[in-house]
Amino acid sequence: MSELNINFRDIEPYVPGEQPQYPDKIKLNTNENPYPPSPQVKKVLDSFNTDDLKLYPDPNASELVEAIADYYAVDKKNVFVGVGSDDVLAMCFMAFFNSGRPIIFPDITYSFYPVWANLFGVKYETKPLDDNFQIVKEDYFCENGGVIFPNPNAPTGVELSLDVIEEIVRYNSDRVVIVDEAYVDFGAKSALPLIQKYKNLVVVQTFSKSRSLAGLRIGFAIANEELISVLNAVKNSYNSYTMNSLTIKAGAAAIADDSYFKQTTDKIVETRENAKIQLSKLGFEFNDSKSNFIFARHKSVKAVDIFNALREKHIFVRYFNQSRIDNYLRITIGTDEEMQALIDFLTDYLSD
Ligand code: PMP
Repeated sequence: MSELNINFRDIEPYVPGEQPQYPDKIKLNTNENPYPPSPQVKKVLDSFNTDDLKLYPDPNASELVEAIADYYAVDKKNVFVGVGSDDVLAMCFMAFFNSGRPIIFPDITYSFYPVWANLFGVKYETKPLDDNFQIVKEDYFCENGGVIFPNPNAPTGVELSLDVIEEIVRYNSDRVVIVDEAYVDFGAKSALPLIQKYKNLVVVQTFSKSRSLAGLRIGFAIANEELISVLNAVKNSYNSYTMNSLTIKAGAAAIADDSYFKQTTDKIVETRENAKIQLSKLGFEFNDSKSNFIFARHKSVKAVDIFNALREKHIFVRYFNQSRIDNYLRITIGTDEEMQALIDFLTDYLSD
């Protein structure tokens, strides 16, 4: 090794899902929303004065923070925003997981958690999900440096009940518990009502899925005021201007349009429930998903074979070559037409 690279950071990064460029693609691989964002977002973008870009944005992103606080009926001191929930979660790792003790999360979960742990030098231990991909609550009743899990979990889509979440938060009252609710708006129960009661709970959500704004990058955390001030201190020790002025305005407009949000999330839930019926008929098995994807395996055909066959037809789903889940496909819920194209292809492919 040369003098130059001996001090380089050696780290295995998170690998995001593919963004294929084929014009005829059906993209069911990264849990994006198939519908466009609220028309209010377009209005903001169309009327945005580009001259304003000469100025730095508001470092507190107040307009967006206030819009989120209004929507969830909390104080603005309870809200922190970031560049997608990935940014918010990374800030949480830096802000809260500094005890030296290992943090804990499920063995099958969002694969960014171990990457952040490694990047920030946080020790971690994983706790196995049971055979139905459920979190075993007793595993979280132990000494640890903090807890993080998504609800619904990813990539399984399985929901953990609010009662169990509360038990985990209550047991771990001396350390921070982060509930990553990236997919909560598709029918699961949010832990937000627990925020007033527990000073150690952080709920993280995103505009990328239920608000159709993956490309804009907005995530947020809601928590006790003290935790939010620590997050702001960490952010302001790293980059004061994480949120750009266009995003602040567009995000505020998006969250104010509740009827569009309800209409599109309801539609996705309806399409998902229909897809469950169709996939079962084709011999797929899955746990009940409360997210905008279904995590399924086929009774007799290997997931990787189905994945490759779909890919050849430019239908993209997600496959994880990882222990315990390497025979599953994660299928994002698209439009009715996209799901029908998927089902039509699978019907043909599986009958051969
Ligand atoms: N949490 C989970 C569980 C996710 O699956 C994702 C999407 N990859 C994120 C957080 C991050 O989403 P975003 O940064 O787009 O808000």
